[in-house]
Amino acid sequence: MAVDRLLPTEEARDLIGLTRDVADKVLAPIVDEYEKTETYPEGVFATLGEAGLLSLPYPEEWGGGGQPYEVYLQVLEEIAARWAAVAVAVSVHSLSCHPLMAFGSEEQKQRWLPEMLGGATVGAYSLSEPQAGSDAAALACKATAVDGGYRISGAKAWITHGGIADFYNLFARTGEGSKGISCFLVPRDTAGLSFGKPEEKMGLHAVPTTSAHYDDAFVPDERRIGAEGQGLQIAFSALDSGRLGIAAVAVGLAQAALDEAVAYAQERTAFGRKIIDHQGLGFLLADMAAAVDSARATYIDAARRRDAGLPYSRNASVAKLVATDAAMKVTTDAVQVLGGYGYTRDFRVERYMREAKITQIFEGTNQIQRLVISRHLAG
Ligand SMILES: Cc1cc2nc3c(=O)[nH]c(=O)nc-3n(C[C@H](O)[C@H](O)[C@H](O)COP(=O)(O)OP(=O)(O)OC[C@H]3O[C@@H](n4cnc5c(N)ncnc54)[C@H](O)[C@@H]3O)c2cc1C
Repeated sequence: MAVDRLLPTEEARDLIGLTRDVADKVLAPIVDEYEKTETYPEGVFATLGEAGLLSLPYPEEWGGGGQPYEVYLQVLEEIAARWAAVAVAVSVHSLSCHPLMAFGSEEQKQRWLPEMLGGATVGAYSLSEPQAGSDAAALACKATAVDGGYRISGAKAWITHGGIADFYNLFARTGEGSKGISCFLVPRDTAGLSFGKPEEKMGLHAVPTTSAHYDDAFVPDERRIGAEGQGLQIAFSALDSGRLGIAAVAVGLAQAALDEAVAYAQERTAFGRKIIDHQGLGFLLADMAAAVDSARATYIDAARRRDAGLPYSRNASVAKLVATDAAMKVTTDAVQVLGGYGYTRDFRVERYMREAKITQIFEGTNQIQRLVISRHLAG
């Protein structure tokens, strides 16, 4: 059932309508096949770019959609309800445009931003390393200053879009400690950059996640974003926005699972009545609906703070924590509602449950979100 959204403008309502149309006509017919065969959906990104759905929260002067974050996230939620892997890819692409938009020079923006926002080039965000995930400040990949640029050596891990993306927001060490990290925009065809085999993941099968290896790769000065040593600040600033994207993806997944569970419970009978009419099951569905609605409210609240120019880092962590824990619970309960059938690949709730798990892990695990929130509480 389509979510009855309270949207701020007529334009936003049209955008949601357009997204539902693309989701029905482009995503829905192919999602099962591509997830099953673990195939990257070439062309889907171009379609989303042409529909203007890849750059919604960025200014129009740079080729963006000029939409409030509140609207962008609800569009993302609609995509996730059909195909979480594509929604994650859109969210990561949007996150990958943030460092250049927020910290790039005018000249850098003019050169690269329009093609990134138009979807002509696809982005990736490369912070994690094999030995440094939650503790990002411990990263070791090294960028040594040389004449005209930097020589990069080291390994990065878990890159969504690895090997497919055209540009990589690379965070590498140019000095000591947390102030010794810098951000670079690295093109895929850089000599000395190679990618590992796609990880064999529990879910999000259609979008590859790989490692990357830098072997004395040269990156010119003009590709450093922000000042030397500003990298971690840039990385965390992008993550505040990105976490809201993951919260919206989680709500989309939870909504899809709820819809499927309700439809099934209205059809299936046991003990002479529809299972939805057994109070024990009806109350389970009611709790699922309450979890989805309240999770949506947390991300919209955080997005409105961001749109108003207020601090929202704590709210983004609350939204990510609440929405992704809700998605895990709601998708697990949806499997329960379908009984044995829910445990088979014949029904999508099985996929939703596998996909919900990653939302509790990436862009800061939920333990790390609690750390962020508790630090805010401690002042
Ligand atoms: C499918 C997928 C896609 C990804 N995409 C990207 C991407 O595009 N770009 C990118 O840079 N990274 C990406 N990641 C990496 C992801 O962000 C990390 O996996 C995540 O941040 C956790 O890091 P880790 O795996 O090293 O776990 P660790 O940091 O080793 O943590 C292991 C466990 O310890 C807990 N823990 C660690 N520190 C603390 C603490 N201080 N207090 C309490 N508990 C703690 C964690 O919560 C976790 O449960 C992706 C990962 C996956 C699986």
